[in-house]
Amino acid sequence: MRIIRYKTPEGTASYGWILEDKVGEVQGNLFGEYRRREARTPFKELSLLAPCEPSKIVCVGRNYIDHAKELGNEVPKIPLIFLKPPSSIIPTGEYIALPSQSKQVEHEGELVIVIGKRAKNVTAEDAREYVFGYTIGNDVTARDLQKTDDQWTRAKGFDTFCPFGPWIDTDFDPSDAVVTCRVNGQMRQMASTRDMVFNVGTLIAYISSVMTLEPGDLIFTGTPAGVGELKNGDIVDVEIEGLGKLSNPVKT
Ligand code: ZN
Repeated sequence: MRIIRYKTPEGTASYGWILEDKVGEVQGNLFGEYRRREARTPFKELSLLAPCEPSKIVCVGRNYIDHAKELGNEVPKIPLIFLKPPSSIIPTGEYIALPSQSKQVEHEGELVIVIGKRAKNVTAEDAREYVFGYTIGNDVTARDLQKTDDQWTRAKGFDTFCPFGPWIDTDFDPSDAVVTCRVNGQMRQMASTRDMVFNVGTLIAYISSVMTLEPGDLIFTGTPAGVGELKNGDIVDVEIEGLGKLSNPVKT
């Protein structure tokens, strides 16, 4: 099942489920008891929001060997984690705003895990039970500030630096899917999720040994090699085979 969040005509937000090209409202608690209304509204007519509202966004750095190497870094022995603030979230279609403080903003196309139930000290074997589904993310990064700052909060945390969506897919298999990132139609990144250093189960186990994960929380699983600059007027598309496409324009 694919889940979206959208703006209602009344200006509030609602969850919806997709059946072919139609959407039905999801009433109740998406991560608990809910009811699916009949899918009647054409998908195209809806104004999409980011597909959930995480309390936190945990990201994994250097989780593909070739990407660690391209920036001159070692592959970590344990997962390297950092946070992006929820204020950086934007949905598909919305502008990534290039901040004046950076001269080098880059795209990072990534598979994103959406947590389905509260997780603390979960084992890698049990981790799947805590996954609600998967979505697509762009871990937008001010690379110059990442190099000058010891902490990455500024480099990773500007408003609009966390596009994700367009939906959450609850049936997606993350074991071997091709992740690509194109800028203005030109391929920049391409790799399979099977090349991740730490897989989904290991990441959930590791992160939940540090912090309690809540329903709707996101884990960005790291980016493949080929990261590169974004300029005013670019269109950046992150696509994951079998999952969909996240597309955002860029402006200064
Ligand atoms: Zn990243």
